[in-house]
Formats: sequence, structure tokens, C-alpha cells
Amino acid sequence: MSAKYIFVTGGVVSSLGKGLAAASIGCLLESRGLKVNLMKFDPYLNVDPGTMSPFQHGEVFVTDDGAETDLDLGHYERFTHAKLSRDNNWTTGRIYEQIIAKERRGDYLGKTVQVIPHVTNEIKAAMKKVAQDVDVAIVEIGGTVGDIESLPFMEAIRQMRQELGREHTLFVHVTLVPFIAAAQELKTKPTQHSVKELLSIGIQPDILLCRTDRFLAKDIKSKIALFCNVEEEAVITAKDVASIYEVPLVFARENVDTLALKYLHVEAKERDLSKWEDIVHRVYNPKADVTIGIVGKYVEYEDSYKSLKEALVHGALAHNLKLQVNWIEAEGLEGADSQYEEQLQDYDGILVPGGFGKRGIEGMLVAIRYAREKKVPYFGICLGMQTACVEFARNVCGLADANSSEFDPATPHRVIYKLRELRGVEELGGTMRLGAWPCKIEPGTLAYNVYGKLEISERHRHRYEFNREYEETLTAGGLRISGSTPDGTYVEMVEIPEHPYFIGCQFHPEFKSKPLEPHPLFKAFVGAAYEHGLKRRSEKAAAEVEMFHRPEKVGRR
Ligand code: GLN
Repeated sequence: MSAKYIFVTGGVVSSLGKGLAAASIGCLLESRGLKVNLMKFDPYLNVDPGTMSPFQHGEVFVTDDGAETDLDLGHYERFTHAKLSRDNNWTTGRIYEQIIAKERRGDYLGKTVQVIPHVTNEIKAAMKKVAQDVDVAIVEIGGTVGDIESLPFMEAIRQMRQELGREHTLFVHVTLVPFIAAAQELKTKPTQHSVKELLSIGIQPDILLCRTDRFLAKDIKSKIALFCNVEEEAVITAKDVASIYEVPLVFARENVDTLALKYLHVEAKERDLSKWEDIVHRVYNPKADVTIGIVGKYVEYEDSYKSLKEALVHGALAHNLKLQVNWIEAEGLEGADSQYEEQLQDYDGILVPGGFGKRGIEGMLVAIRYAREKKVPYFGICLGMQTACVEFARNVCGLADANSSEFDPATPHRVIYKLRELRGVEELGGTMRLGAWPCKIEPGTLAYNVYGKLEISERHRHRYEFNREYEETLTAGGLRISGSTPDGTYVEMVEIPEHPYFIGCQFHPEFKSKPLEPHPLFKAFVGAAYEHGLKRRSEKAAAEVEMFHRPEKVGRR
């Protein structure tokens, strides 16, 4: 059978969760034994989000092939088994880059190069490429209907329907049905307008996913159906939920998959969502809490660490725990009067995530020293590994000015530096070490205990790396290198054997964690944090009991 396409568009406002909707539809179709692929088109002109600030764009998700992509691809991977690559995320900038390169080469044989058909053809070709070898390709169009910049993508999907016909294409529109408190009513007008907007560019949606905070009663559904020209059963209540992992179950209850398959004339087996039901059951029935402090620089904007947060959730769910995350602004830990102990003492585990630039580094070092000395489980990811090495060099090995050359190019002790620059790799255009690299794990280490294997593959996104010239000093001080690239060039993992749980990794394990397959590093870290929390609380309780039995001490306080 040739692939069927489901196009997901969004209306009324942004942030309605189109990415999660697309991912959840993919999850439902997989649960019926179908093979899916997912892709996203972003209407902005940047060639990829790699150069955009996390405040602007949120997290940059990295695929195995080293593409820097939109964070929705993270949702796609967490909810499905689709193998994503740079083919699964296109921006307007990248589409145009291709077209302009062709034009310069003379590929258009003297023709005038235009949005229709040249840009739309390029977009359609990209869609067809990801639809090879799958039953259903789900294509998400970024932005909101009515935006000027998403028009070429909209026109391309309109043409896809024209070309392939109704049985091969399905339009799903995600829209908003707000509850207006003053009127005590759900309002359908924004949805009506949004569908009108779609109709004006030649697209009649088949299914409306209506984001709302309450169930849509039959009369509301029939009103929307009438005005928007869809069947009543195709007006779906996409009700807000506390956990994103519940979205597939919400869609299943509303029969989104059954309806999509009916419209697309696809036969599939009954859905089996038992594993997702189990996850959601865990979400709502935790045995206890675990509290992790994340010390970073973009902490006020949670989207910058989307995959990290989800990976921690997966790690917590694996132990039936409820994750409490506190984002700690690294700069707030700096300086003599920061009272960092007070800020850090109530965490079961401390994590320093990836990041770029100098701001907040000294605060991260304070947090790492605290975790190391107080034996609080520590997990350092990318920058968090680099800073852990700097902290160790300074405070354990006595190299007072040790640093990364990213933050102090003149440091006498470049514990972290740009090895590849020295080797001239930079000139070849590869400024970042990106994507999947193999790593060999040392037997007998915590890393080996965690992974249970000697060879792993993880995704990277960094420029700087551990300087092997300091290996002897740091290992003599008690740091252990527990993972390296098979040729020994790059240090990939470090740990402190004398500590209950202290791991740093140069890669980003969060990109490979899924709710149904929690990443071993996150599972182990959260487990260690929970154990530490139990110990911390029982020691605190014991101290309080002791205080109670020694009233003269209390009196003196
Ligand atoms: N800034 C560091 C580097 O470029 C760390 C990068 C990261 O944490 N992703 O190597």
C-alpha cells in the first residue's frame, strides 16, 4: 500500500500542542500495528534552530544523524518508534537554501523560479521522502493558520490532497474552544474563524481537535460540526490533562484513530495501549516524591530543557515516584552572601544540564562542590560534566585557576578545551560535535553498572572537550574516566568512585529517553536521589528527636 498522509495544522493561537497531538496520533496508529513516520515544517527563515536562542525557540533537539531540530521531534521520538533524521524537520530557510543552490547551478534551465511550483514541489518532495516504507506519514505544519509565512506549506498540503485524493490524505486541525468565565460558556467562534481561514486557502479539515478545559457537550459539537462542515464525530474534545502521556488515551477515548483510519480506508488491528495505560497509572499513583534541583542558566524558560525534564520524569516513573523539579538560577548561587547551602540543602539530587557561555558557571561550580562534598547524587550533562571536571581540578587537585577555555581562554589550566580546533577540524566546517558517537564503557565502573554493557551510542552537541593532558592529575585525585570514544580520543564519561552517585557525561542522554524505555542514566540517578532523600529525611528526623529530648539545647538556641 502506498503511504497515507495525515496533515496537522493549528489555528486560533500557538502553543495548542500540535506537536503532542501529532505524536499522540502516531502513538495510536502504532498501537494498531501500523508503521508511522512524522515530520515537521517550521515556517521561519533560519536554516535550522541550532543558532537560535533557547529563549526564542526552546530546546534544540538532536537526532542520531546530528541534525539540530525542533523540540517537537523529541515528542515524536518519545511517543513512537519512528527513526528521525534531518529529513524529518524542514524550515523555510532550508527549503529556500536548497532551491537557491539549484538555481545557482542552473538546474532550472532558465525558468523563472517561483513559490508555486518550485517551493511547493520542494516541500512535497520532502514529504514524500519520509513517507517511503511506512503506512502513515504524519506531517505537522508549524505556525498558526493565517500566518503569511506558512502559506507555501499550506499550499503544498492542499496540492497533496489534489494529487493523491481523499483516501490518501487527511487534514487534522488543532483549534481552541475557550471557556469564557463572564458568560459561563464555551465559545466556538474562534474555531469557526480558524476553519474559514483554512477554507480560504482551499483546505477543508476532516477532523477538529478542540483544545478545551472541559468536555464538549453534544450541542457544542454539533454546532461546530455544522459551521465548520465536518462530521459531528470528527469534533474531538482534546481536553487539558495533567500529564502529556495521557494525551494518547484521551484521543483513544474520542476514537481519533478509528476515525482517521475510516477516512483513510485503512484496515488495522485493535489498538493495544496497555503500556501507556500503565505509564499513566504510575503518573497518578506514585509511592513517594523525589526532588531534583537543576542548576542552569536558562531555567526561567522550561522549554529550553524539554527533553531533560521528560527524561527525569521517565526515570521517576520507573521507580513509581513523582518528580518534583526545581530550577535553580546558577547566578544566584554565586558570591559570598548567596546562602547557597540553604538553597541546595533540600534536594535529593542535583543536576547541571547542558549550556553555552560564561554566565552562571561559577554558580554551577558552587552547586557541584556542594554535591560532591555532601555526597548528594550528582548528574552532569555536557556542560555539567565539563564544570564537574573544572570543580574537581580546582578544589580537589589544587589547580586554582582551572577552567574551560570557553569561559577563560587565558587560563593556565585548560582542563576543558577545543581539541578539534587544534586538529584543524574547525576549518572543515564542523564547529560542533553533533549526533551519535560510540562510547566504550570501562568495566567495574558505576557507568558500567548503570548501562550493563561495554559499548553504547549517545547523541552529542558540544564544541569543547576534556583535555587528556590533565587525565593523570585528575585521576590521581580520585576522578575516574569511565567512558571514552573507542579510539580513546574523547572522554565521554567521568565519575567519582568515592561518592555514592556522581556521574558526568559529555553527551545528552535525555534525547534518547522514552516513557516506555527510560534511559538507564536517568533511572539510576533518580533512584540514587530517592535513596539519598530517604536517608536525608531520616537523619533530619533523628536530629529533631534528639533536640526534643535535650530541651536545654533548644532553650539555648
Ligand atoms: N558549551 C559547552 C561546549 O560547547 C557545552 C555544550 C553543551 O552543554 N551542550 O562544549
